[in-house]
Amino acid sequence: MAACHFLEKCHFFNGNISETPSAASDLKIRYCYGGGHVACARYVVCKKLGEGSVPKNLFPDQQNRLNEILGFI
Ligand code: SF4
Repeated sequence: MAACHFLEKCHFFNGNISETPSAASDLKIRYCYGGGHVACARYVVCKKLGEGSVPKNLFPDQQNRLNEILGFI
């Protein structure tokens, strides 16, 4: 599976969001490297609303925040 093509400019991937190293590593394996990026909250916001709409502190697994951002709840 292809890695996410936002790796180079992603705030989460590049360590700009506070998280324990092991938790961050787990999320990167789950979302960034193995094709799971299509379910990543950051990825979805970027694709649907544009890069400028992605909150800097949004984590890949924050589906509730994703729904709020997209107006589903
Ligand atoms: S956190 Fe999401 S948008 Fe950022 S590199 Fe990983 S999969 Fe891509």
